[in-house]
Amino acid sequence: MDKDRKVYKKVSRVTGVADRDRKTHRKTEQGKILPERDKRPDSDKKKDKTPGRKDYGPDRKTDYGRCPVMKKCGGCRYVGMSYGEQLKIKQKTVEKLLGGYGKMDKIIGMEQPEHYRNKVHAVFDFQKGRGIISGIYKEGTHDVVPVEECLLEDRKADQIIGSVRELAGSFKIKAYDEDTGYGLLRHVLIRVGHATGQIMVVLVLGSPILPSKNNFVKALCKLHPEITTIVLNVNNKKTSMVLGDKEHVLYGKGYIEDVLCGRTFRISSKSFYQVNAVQTEKLYGKAAEYACLTGKETVIDAYCGIGTIGLAVAGHVKKVIGVELNQSAVRDAVANAKINGIKNADFYQNDAGRFMIQLAETKETVDVVFMDPPRSGSTEEFMDALVMLAPDRVVYISCNPETLARDLGYLAKKSRYRAVRITPVDMFPFTDNIETICLLTKEKG
Ligand code: SAH
Repeated sequence: MDKDRKVYKKVSRVTGVADRDRKTHRKTEQGKILPERDKRPDSDKKKDKTPGRKDYGPDRKTDYGRCPVMKKCGGCRYVGMSYGEQLKIKQKTVEKLLGGYGKMDKIIGMEQPEHYRNKVHAVFDFQKGRGIISGIYKEGTHDVVPVEECLLEDRKADQIIGSVRELAGSFKIKAYDEDTGYGLLRHVLIRVGHATGQIMVVLVLGSPILPSKNNFVKALCKLHPEITTIVLNVNNKKTSMVLGDKEHVLYGKGYIEDVLCGRTFRISSKSFYQVNAVQTEKLYGKAAEYACLTGKETVIDAYCGIGTIGLAVAGHVKKVIGVELNQSAVRDAVANAKINGIKNADFYQNDAGRFMIQLAETKETVDVVFMDPPRSGSTEEFMDALVMLAPDRVVYISCNPETLARDLGYLAKKSRYRAVRITPVDMFPFTDNIETICLLTKEKG
C-alpha cells in the first residue's frame, strides 16, 4: 500500500458524516487554515474594498502566507498560491486525465474563493494547562490540533465552535477521551444554509445525557441567535466515525433549509449536501445545459442525495426518478419534492447499480441520466445497466477525475457512449480536489 493510500485509509476512518468526498472531508472538515495576519500597509488594505478590482476573481493575487496548522492539517495544499495559479493547476490535471476523452472547457472558478464551506466539523480534546480544546486531527493521527479559524470555513460556524468550547468549559462538560471512553463532548458539526442563514449545530456526545441541557442550549442560542436548530447526536462507540446512529432534537426543527437554484431544500445532519453552495449553482446550471431538456424527458437522478439535481430540473422534464442509498437523504428528498410542490419526482432508497438493473428489466424509457457518485466513482454494474437503458444523454458529475477517467474508459470500451463536453468546476478552492462535469452521448454508427 502506498503512502498516500495509507494516510487516506487511516484518516477516512475519522469521518462518518455523509460526505461523498472523503478526501475533501479529510482535508477540509479537518483541515483548518489560519490566514496570516495582513501585513500590508493600511493604504493598500483600503484599496481592496473597492468592488470589481482585479484582485477579485480567478486572477487576483492572494497571499495568505503560511497557515500555522497547514503542515499538521494538510487541507489547503494550495495556500500561498494565487487563485489563478490554483485554477491553472486543476485545469492541467483534468486535461491530463480526461483530455483524451472529449473536448475540455475552461475551469469555472469562484469570485471569492474563501470561507465557502457551509459544513464545518471540529473535534474536542483536553490539553493540560489549556483545558478543553477544539480543532482538527493532525493529518494521519488522532492528535487534536487547536484551531480558531479557517480560511475555507464559514466564519460564523467557526465562531459557534469557539462558543461551544467555552460554554463546555463553564458548564464543566468534559471532552471525550477516545482512548478511555471517559468524558462527554466528542465533536461538533455545524451546517449553515448559504441563502437562508439557517444554522444547525450537531453536538456529538459520548452518552445521551447532556447535564443542564436546557441552560446550555439557552446560553448557546443567546450568544448566537442565528442558530435555528440544535441536535444531540450520540456516538458511544469506540469508533472514529463522527456521527452515531441515535440523535434527538434539542432545539428547533432538527434540520435546516437552504435555497438552491430557486428551490428550497431541507437538509438533515446525516444527509449529503454540497459544501460550496455558490459553485453548486454553477455546477447544476451546467448539468441542466448539458441535459438539453425540452419538458418531455424522463430523467434519472442517480446518487441523488437530498434530490437537489432532480428537483432543480423537475420543471423542465416529464418525470424525475431519484435513487440514493442513504435513508436520511431519501427522506429529505421526498420532503423536498413536497416543500417545492413538485409532483413529477419519485425517490427510491437503493444501491444505484442494483436499482438501475431493476429499472432496465422493466423496460422503462429513460432519456437522460444524471449520475453523481462518491469519490470511488460508479460501478460496472451501474454502467452496464446504463447501457441497457440507453438514454440519449448522460451527465456525469464527479469529485474525483481519476475514477471519472476509469469510468469513461469502461464506457468507451463497452458501449458507444463518448464524452463530448467536459468542464471542471472549482468546488474546493485551496485544496487539490477537483469537481468535473461531463456530457456523454452515443456515438453514431
Ligand atoms: N447529487 C447529490 C449527492 C451527491 S454525493 C448532490 O449533488 O447533492 C453522492 C451521493 O451518493 C451521497 O448522497 C451518497 O449517500 C450516495 N451514495 C453513495 N453510494 C451509493 C450507492 N451505492 N447507491 C446510491 N447512492 C449512493
